[in-house]
Amino acid sequence: MRQYNEENQLEKVICNQCKKELKLENGILKEGHFEGKQTFGYFSDKDGMTHKFDLCEDCYNKLIQNFEMPVEEIEEKEIF
Ligand SMILES: [Zn+2]
Repeated sequence: MRQYNEENQLEKVICNQCKKELKLENGILKEGHFEGKQTFGYFSDKDGMTHKFDLCEDCYNKLIQNFEMPVEEIEEKEIF
């Protein structure tokens, strides 16, 4: 979950799963996290609704541990 100030600068990021506040410096996240955003289309039960959430790295790791199939891992040449 993200909070922005009046200048639309990122002010706070809180893990939706455990409520941990993520480390943020000058609007930039300084720790591992997962940002989820999905718009559900006409063929879903959530017709046209967008869902957004943030997870800290610990909660992300717990989530993917429950997958029957592992996540695909791709080594990126550039990270930001
Ligand atoms: Zn968490």
